[in-house]
Amino acid sequence: MNDRLVAARLERQANVRAAMAAAQVEALVLSLGADLPWLSGYEAMPLERPTVLVVPVDAPATLVVPRLEAPRVDEEPRLFGLLPWGETDDPVALVAAAVGRRRRLAVSDRCWASLLLDLQATLPGATWQRASGVTGPLRAIKDDAEVASLAAAGAAADVVSAALLAGDIRLVGRSEAAVSEEIGARLRAEGHARVNFAIVASGPNAASPHHEPGERRIGPGEAVVCDFGGTFSLDGDVGYCSDTTRTVVTGPPEAELAELYAVLAEAQEAAVQAVRPGVACEEIDAVGRRRIAEAGLGERFIHRIGHGIGLEEHEDPYLVEGNGTPIEVGHAFSVEPGIYLPGRLGARIEDIVVATVGGCRRLNVANRSLHVVDD
Ligand code: ZN
Ligand code: ZN
Ligand code: ZN
Repeated sequence: MNDRLVAARLERQANVRAAMAAAQVEALVLSLGADLPWLSGYEAMPLERPTVLVVPVDAPATLVVPRLEAPRVDEEPRLFGLLPWGETDDPVALVAAAVGRRRRLAVSDRCWASLLLDLQATLPGATWQRASGVTGPLRAIKDDAEVASLAAAGAAADVVSAALLAGDIRLVGRSEAAVSEEIGARLRAEGHARVNFAIVASGPNAASPHHEPGERRIGPGEAVVCDFGGTFSLDGDVGYCSDTTRTVVTGPPEAELAELYAVLAEAQEAAVQAVRPGVACEEIDAVGRRRIAEAGLGERFIHRIGHGIGLEEHEDPYLVEGNGTPIEVGHAFSVEPGIYLPGRLGARIEDIVVATVGGCRRLNVANRSLHVVDD
């Protein structure tokens, strides 16, 4: 890990310890999930052998890791001490030893229940809460290293969007699944380490926001929603996510689709323009929703307008009615209104933005006008 990434993580650990002290949490017990790589740079294998980063409020962190996985660890004594365990060792006892006498504990939200139950049996006096209560608000605010990673991921995804808009990805006559495969291959070719999803939803399927691409053949004159993203590593850091959506039409659009799309593009633009520090998350959703409702399509926008993004595709902050959290500089999230006419058609536009002092920076800049492709 380079010094810049170590320095970023030292600052995150300092912020986490301050938040732990404020919440009277004595130790974090971080297993699977994004908190561990965020603080250590190491991503645990999602297997049955426990990997745990113990972060005491008042002492250096310890990474308890299966011995056979220890060679994967980029050992960084400034961030954690390494404690490998062998096949006949008891990892729960090692974690308990690293916890010591501390009893107010917070555990990662994605920790396996089996590990937590064993820890509870070994530490009967402990009280447990979710680690996200401490780490969530901090992780939502991206530091410079994280913004650089998200920007690189967004730029790589935009190359695929540009190919889609230019008609370089053939659509008519192919199955959604085949197009999804090609989008995934292009994401990897642009440097993504992993493809997380590539939704291709054509014709009536476009009305289903989380459609699973299948064997349906794409026809002429159809709206095709393409929503894709993956995980991208910059400078050897752990991977950050991309997530973007463009809707294209295979042949000249019918008036209904063109009008619906114009409303959608205005709503997306208005919502992005409304982003600035201090504005409530729910207000961004409301701005986009209002524009769609004015066109009489309010009932056809059936999901929140956005979600935070970082090490995870979906994380805090969520842009949804009821979330009064004020936007802060460094919040990174999607702005993705959609309009869906069940059984007929749909459209969605999605960009990732990062809040800045004066508004926001878009990390996806591929063209947003309705492109006619492959006609
Ligand atoms: Zn989604
Ligand atoms: Zn998406
Ligand atoms: Zn999204």
